[in-house]
Amino acid sequence: MHAAVSPAAAMRAGAALPVDQARIARAVREILFAVGEDPDRDGLLETPKRVAKAYAEMFRGLAEDAGTHLARTFEQASGELITVTNINFFSVCEHHLLPFHGQAHVAYLPKHGRVVGLSKLARTVEVFARRPQLQERLTDQIADALVEHLDAAGVVVMVEGEHMCMKMRGVKSHDARMTTFARRGIHRHDEARGQAALQLVRDLAHRARA
Ligand SMILES: [Zn+2]
Repeated sequence: MHAAVSPAAAMRAGAALPVDQARIARAVREILFAVGEDPDRDGLLETPKRVAKAYAEMFRGLAEDAGTHLARTFEQASGELITVTNINFFSVCEHHLLPFHGQAHVAYLPKHGRVVGLSKLARTVEVFARRPQLQERLTDQIADALVEHLDAAGVVVMVEGEHMCMKMRGVKSHDARMTTFARRGIHRHDEARGQAALQLVRDLAHRARA
Protein backbone atom coordinates (compact mmCIF):
# COMPACT_ATOMS: atom_id res chain seq x y z
CA MET A 1 0.00 0.00 0.00
CA HIS A 2 1.30 3.41 -0.92
CA ALA A 3 0.73 6.41 1.34
CA ALA A 4 -0.90 9.09 -0.77
CA VAL A 5 -0.01 11.96 1.55
CA SER A 6 3.56 12.83 2.51
CA PRO A 7 4.28 13.39 6.20
CA ALA A 8 5.01 17.06 5.56
CA ALA A 9 1.73 17.53 3.73
CA ALA A 10 -0.14 15.74 6.50
CA MET A 11 1.47 18.06 9.03
CA ARG A 12 0.50 21.12 7.05
CA ALA A 13 -3.04 19.79 6.96
CA GLY A 14 -2.88 19.47 10.73
CA ALA A 15 -3.51 15.74 10.63
CA ALA A 16 -2.12 13.40 13.26
CA LEU A 17 0.24 11.11 11.43
CA PRO A 18 0.13 7.44 12.25
CA VAL A 19 3.50 5.84 11.62
CA ASP A 20 3.16 3.03 9.07
CA GLN A 21 5.04 0.34 10.96
CA ALA A 22 4.37 -2.42 8.41
CA ARG A 23 5.99 -0.31 5.74
CA ILE A 24 9.04 0.36 7.92
CA ALA A 25 9.35 -3.35 8.65
CA ARG A 26 9.35 -4.15 4.92
CA ALA A 27 12.05 -1.55 4.33
CA VAL A 28 14.22 -2.87 7.17
CA ARG A 29 13.95 -6.37 5.73
CA GLU A 30 15.23 -4.94 2.43
CA ILE A 31 18.12 -3.26 4.23
CA LEU A 32 19.09 -6.56 5.84
CA PHE A 33 19.12 -8.23 2.41
CA ALA A 34 21.12 -5.32 1.00
CA VAL A 35 23.92 -5.61 3.56
CA GLY A 36 24.23 -9.33 2.85
CA GLU A 37 22.34 -10.64 5.86
CA ASP A 38 19.67 -13.30 5.99
CA PRO A 39 16.55 -11.67 7.46
CA ASP A 40 15.04 -15.12 7.94
CA ARG A 41 17.66 -16.40 10.34
CA ASP A 42 16.53 -16.78 13.92
CA GLY A 43 18.11 -13.69 15.48
CA LEU A 44 16.78 -11.36 12.79
CA LEU A 45 13.26 -12.71 12.32
CA GLU A 46 11.62 -10.16 14.61
CA THR A 47 14.09 -7.37 13.89
CA PRO A 48 12.08 -5.50 11.21
CA LYS A 49 9.10 -5.33 13.56
CA ARG A 50 11.25 -4.17 16.46
CA VAL A 51 12.90 -1.48 14.37
CA ALA A 52 9.49 -0.32 13.14
CA LYS A 53 8.31 0.01 16.73
CA ALA A 54 11.46 1.90 17.72
CA TYR A 55 11.08 4.25 14.73
CA ALA A 56 7.46 4.92 15.61
CA GLU A 57 8.71 6.09 18.99
CA MET A 58 11.71 8.00 17.67
CA PHE A 59 9.65 9.92 15.11
CA ARG A 60 6.52 10.38 17.19
CA GLY A 61 7.12 14.12 17.30
CA LEU A 62 6.12 14.46 13.62
CA ALA A 63 2.51 13.94 14.64
CA GLU A 64 2.70 16.22 17.66
CA ASP A 65 2.29 19.95 18.13
CA ALA A 66 4.35 21.79 20.73
CA GLY A 67 1.43 24.17 21.15
CA THR A 68 -0.57 21.55 23.04
CA HIS A 69 2.12 21.43 25.73
CA LEU A 70 2.61 25.19 25.87
CA ALA A 71 -1.09 26.03 25.96
CA ARG A 72 -1.37 25.54 29.72
CA THR A 73 0.28 28.62 31.13
CA PHE A 74 -0.07 30.25 34.51
CA GLU A 75 0.39 33.78 35.77
CA GLN A 76 3.59 34.68 37.53
CA ALA A 77 4.22 38.38 37.84
CA SER A 78 8.00 38.26 37.97
CA GLY A 79 9.39 39.96 34.90
CA GLU A 80 12.65 38.07 35.40
CA LEU A 81 14.35 35.58 33.14
CA ILE A 82 13.32 31.96 33.66
CA THR A 83 15.92 29.33 32.91
CA VAL A 84 15.64 25.56 32.56
CA THR A 85 18.93 23.84 31.90
CA ASN A 86 20.06 20.29 31.17
CA ILE A 87 16.93 19.01 29.49
CA ASN A 88 18.08 15.68 28.09
CA PHE A 89 16.98 14.87 24.57
CA PHE A 90 17.38 12.10 22.01
CA SER A 91 17.01 12.85 18.34
CA VAL A 92 17.87 11.41 14.92
CA CYS A 93 20.03 13.23 12.40
CA GLU A 94 18.17 13.52 9.13
CA HIS A 95 21.30 13.07 7.03
CA HIS A 96 22.21 9.61 8.29
CA LEU A 97 19.22 8.52 10.40
CA LEU A 98 21.65 7.98 13.26
CA PRO A 99 20.98 9.24 16.77
CA PHE A 100 22.26 12.41 18.28
CA HIS A 101 21.63 13.28 21.88
CA GLY A 102 22.55 15.81 24.51
CA GLN A 103 21.08 18.63 26.54
CA ALA A 104 18.94 21.61 25.72
CA HIS A 105 19.13 24.75 27.84
CA VAL A 106 16.36 27.30 27.68
CA ALA A 107 15.92 30.81 29.06
CA TYR A 108 12.93 33.01 28.39
CA LEU A 109 11.60 36.32 29.53
CA PRO A 110 7.82 36.05 30.03
CA LYS A 111 5.53 38.72 28.69
CA HIS A 112 2.38 39.58 30.64
CA GLY A 113 3.61 37.15 33.34
CA ARG A 114 2.74 34.12 31.18
CA VAL A 115 4.91 31.19 32.26
CA VAL A 116 4.76 27.46 31.70
CA GLY A 117 5.52 24.43 33.88
CA LEU A 118 8.94 22.84 33.85
CA SER A 119 7.73 19.54 32.40
CA LYS A 120 6.03 21.36 29.52
CA LEU A 121 9.36 22.81 28.41
CA ALA A 122 10.88 19.33 28.44
CA ARG A 123 7.89 18.07 26.42
CA THR A 124 8.39 20.86 23.90
CA VAL A 125 12.02 19.85 23.41
CA GLU A 126 10.87 16.26 22.96
CA VAL A 127 8.26 17.12 20.32
CA PHE A 128 10.94 18.64 18.10
CA ALA A 129 13.66 16.12 18.96
CA ARG A 130 11.57 13.11 17.94
CA ARG A 131 11.75 13.83 14.25
CA PRO A 132 14.33 13.46 11.50
CA GLN A 133 16.25 16.49 12.62
CA LEU A 134 19.23 18.83 12.43
CA GLN A 135 20.58 20.22 15.66
CA GLU A 136 20.49 23.75 14.24
CA ARG A 137 16.80 23.41 13.35
CA LEU A 138 15.98 21.78 16.68
CA THR A 139 17.48 24.81 18.43
CA ASP A 140 15.51 27.26 16.26
CA GLN A 141 12.24 25.38 16.61
CA ILE A 142 12.40 25.38 20.42
CA ALA A 143 13.05 29.13 20.42
CA ASP A 144 10.30 29.83 17.88
CA ALA A 145 7.77 27.76 19.83
CA LEU A 146 8.36 29.83 22.97
CA VAL A 147 7.80 33.02 21.02
CA GLU A 148 4.76 31.68 19.18
CA HIS A 149 2.94 29.96 22.03
CA LEU A 150 4.09 31.86 25.13
CA ASP A 151 4.54 35.21 23.43
CA ALA A 152 7.85 35.39 25.31
CA ALA A 153 9.53 38.80 25.19
CA GLY A 154 12.93 37.20 24.79
CA VAL A 155 14.35 33.70 24.36
CA VAL A 156 17.78 32.11 24.48
CA VAL A 157 18.26 28.45 23.61
CA MET A 158 21.53 26.54 23.73
CA VAL A 159 21.71 22.93 22.56
CA GLU A 160 24.70 20.65 23.05
CA GLY A 161 24.73 17.42 21.10
CA GLU A 162 26.85 14.39 20.39
CA HIS A 163 26.25 12.88 16.98
CA MET A 164 26.64 9.19 16.32
CA CYS A 165 27.20 9.90 12.63
CA MET A 166 30.40 11.67 13.67
CA LYS A 167 31.41 9.19 16.35
CA MET A 168 30.80 5.93 14.50
CA ARG A 169 31.74 6.68 10.92
CA GLY A 170 33.71 8.98 8.64
CA VAL A 171 36.27 11.00 10.56
CA LYS A 172 35.36 9.29 13.87
CA SER A 173 35.61 12.39 16.03
CA HIS A 174 34.72 10.53 19.18
CA ASP A 175 34.65 13.51 21.48
CA ALA A 176 33.20 16.12 19.16
CA ARG A 177 30.36 17.99 20.72
CA MET A 178 28.23 20.41 18.76
CA THR A 179 26.82 23.53 20.37
CA THR A 180 24.10 25.62 18.74
CA PHE A 181 22.37 28.80 19.84
CA ALA A 182 19.18 30.64 19.04
CA ARG A 183 18.10 34.04 20.31
CA ARG A 184 14.74 35.70 19.86
CA GLY A 185 12.98 38.93 20.78
CA ILE A 186 14.80 41.28 23.09
CA HIS A 187 17.71 38.86 23.42
CA ARG A 188 18.30 39.10 19.72
CA HIS A 189 17.77 42.81 19.28
CA ASP A 190 19.61 43.92 22.42
CA GLU A 191 23.11 42.51 22.04
CA ALA A 192 24.13 43.19 25.66
CA ARG A 193 21.04 41.49 27.11
CA GLY A 194 21.38 38.62 24.67
CA GLN A 195 25.00 38.01 25.61
CA ALA A 196 24.22 38.27 29.33
CA ALA A 197 21.40 35.73 29.06
CA LEU A 198 23.59 33.41 27.03
CA GLN A 199 26.36 33.64 29.62
CA LEU A 200 23.87 32.88 32.40
CA VAL A 201 22.60 29.80 30.55
CA ARG A 202 26.18 28.63 29.98
CA ASP A 203 27.07 29.10 33.65
CA LEU A 204 23.97 27.28 34.87
CA ALA A 205 24.42 24.42 32.42
CA HIS A 206 27.98 23.84 33.44
CA ARG A 207 27.28 24.21 37.14
CA ALA A 208 24.55 21.58 36.96
CA ARG A 209 26.88 19.20 35.21
CA ALA A 210 29.82 19.66 37.60
ZN1 LIG B 1 24.44 12.87 10.57
